[in-house]
Amino acid sequence: MYDGPPVVVVGNGPVGQTTALLLARWEIPTVVLDAHERREAVGSRSICQQRETLDIWDTVGAGRAIADEGVTWRVARTYYREHELFQVAFADSGDSPFPPWVNIGQARVEQVLDERIADAPLVDVRWGTTVTGISQDDRAVRVETTRGTIETPYVVGCAGARGEVVRAAIGAGFEGRTFEDRFLICDIRCDLPERELERRFYFDPEWNPGRQVLMHPCPDSTYRIDWQVDPGFDLERERANGDLDRRIRRIVGSVDHEVLWCTVYRFHSRLATTMGSGRVLLAGDCAHLMAPFGARGLNSGVADAENAAWRIAYALHGWASPRTVDGYAAERRAAAENNLAITTSTMDFLVPQSEAGRAHRRDVLERAVTDAAARAEIDSGKLYAPFRYGADRHPAVGALHPDHRLRAAARRARGEFLTHATGGGTWVVRPDGHVAAVSAEWS
Ligand SMILES: Cc1cc2nc3c(=O)[nH]c(=O)nc-3n(C[C@H](O)[C@H](O)[C@H](O)COP(=O)(O)OP(=O)(O)OC[C@H]3O[C@@H](n4cnc5c(N)ncnc54)[C@H](O)[C@@H]3O)c2cc1C
Repeated sequence: MYDGPPVVVVGNGPVGQTTALLLARWEIPTVVLDAHERREAVGSRSICQQRETLDIWDTVGAGRAIADEGVTWRVARTYYREHELFQVAFADSGDSPFPPWVNIGQARVEQVLDERIADAPLVDVRWGTTVTGISQDDRAVRVETTRGTIETPYVVGCAGARGEVVRAAIGAGFEGRTFEDRFLICDIRCDLPERELERRFYFDPEWNPGRQVLMHPCPDSTYRIDWQVDPGFDLERERANGDLDRRIRRIVGSVDHEVLWCTVYRFHSRLATTMGSGRVLLAGDCAHLMAPFGARGLNSGVADAENAAWRIAYALHGWASPRTVDGYAAERRAAAENNLAITTSTMDFLVPQSEAGRAHRRDVLERAVTDAAARAEIDSGKLYAPFRYGADRHPAVGALHPDHRLRAAARRARGEFLTHATGGGTWVVRPDGHVAAVSAEWS
C-alpha cells in the first residue's frame, strides 16, 4: 500500500474528477485543487458521452448512473434546405452493458462524479485554491497555491483551457488557432408532441440560411440546439427583442418551451507542444482544445485521465519503473493529434475558411439532394473512437481490447497486466484495457 504524499490534481472539472477517482481506485491519495469557490452547474456543454467513457466511469462507480439517466439517440437525420438528405440508424452491437453513447449534460456528469468523490476518502477536494506556480526536480514537484505550498510526487494538470500555469511548468506552448465563427448554444425544456430520439442536423435551413443548426435530445425533456450565427450576433439583443424565442419556435413550433441556458462560443483547435515532462502531466482541455462536433473534447480527456492514473499508480506502488509515466505524453499527444485532425476536417467542411471551401460545401450539398454517392462527402462530425497506440504487425496491439467477458483464465495478481488466453494464443491487456501484446501463435 502506497503511504507517500498525495498526487496533486489541478482542476476539479470532469477530467480532474475522473483522474482523482481513478487514482483512488488504485489506492493512491489525491489533493484536487480548484480556483473556483464551489461547483457551478453551467449548462450542458459536453453532451455526448461515449461507451468507452462510460466504461471508465463505471470502474469508479459512476458509469451506470450516467448511462441510466442519459438518452441514446438511434437515428441521425441530415437535412439540406427543405430536403432530408439521409438518415443513419445506429444498431447497438457488442457485449457491453452500456449503449454506444448517451446524451447527458456535463453539469449533471460533474454532479454524479462529485457524489462518487464524496464517498472516496482518498480524494481531498480543496475549492478556492488557485495554483500560482509549479516547479519540479528529480524527486518531487512543488505546487505553489494561494493557500500555501504542497510537495507531491506527481501533478496531473486538468486546469482546462486557461491552465497556463501548468503548461508553463513544463514549457508547453498551446499552438493552434481560435476561429472567428460563432455558435449560439441553447438548452431548452419542452414537451414535443412526438418526442423522437433523433439527432437532427440542418444545413442551410431557410430559417438559418448559409449556416447550420444541430439539435440533440437530452434527458428530462430537454434539447440542446446549436446554431451557427453571423459575426454580429448579439445574444442579449435577441433575448430582449424576442428573436431568440422566434428562433427556437422555428424548430419546436408553438409548444411551450423554457430556455434553461444560452451562450455564444467560438471554437478552438489547439494542442500543447508536450503533454508531460518529468512528474507533471497535462490532461483534458489543458492539453487540447477541439471543436465540439464529434464530441471528442471530454471523451478524450477522460481517456487521458485513465492513461495518466494507471501509469502514476504503477510507478508509485513500485509495480513498474517510474519511466512508465513517461509513456503518457507520447501516447496521449498522438491521440490528441488524431482527434484534432478529425475535428479540423469536420470544421473545414462545416465552416469553410476559404472561398474554395465554401464552394465545395455548396457543391457537395447540392449534389447530395439527388446523388446518394455525394452524401458520403458530407462531414457533420465523426463520433469519438478510442485511439490505437503505436503500430504493430498485429492489428489488435495498441487498440482497446474488444468487448469481451473475461473468464477465470484472465485473473491477475495486483500490479500485473491481465492475460487473456483464448484459443491458440494469449493477449496481454494493460490496465486501461488496451492490448499490450498478442502471443506469436495468435498472429
Ligand atoms: C460553452 C461550451 C460548450 C461546450 N460544448 C461542448 C460540446 O458540445 N461537446 C464537447 O465535447 N465539449 C464541449 N465543451 C468542452 C467541454 O466543456 C470541455 O472539453 C470540458 O469541460 C473539459 O474538461 P476539463 O476537466 O479538461 O476542464 P474544465 O472543465 O475547464 O475544468 C478546469 C478546472 O480547472 C480549474 N482551474 C483552472 N486554472 C486553475 C488554477 N490555476 N488553479 C486551480 N484551478 C484551476 C478551473 O476552475 C476549472 O474548474 C464546451 C465547452 C464550453 C465552454
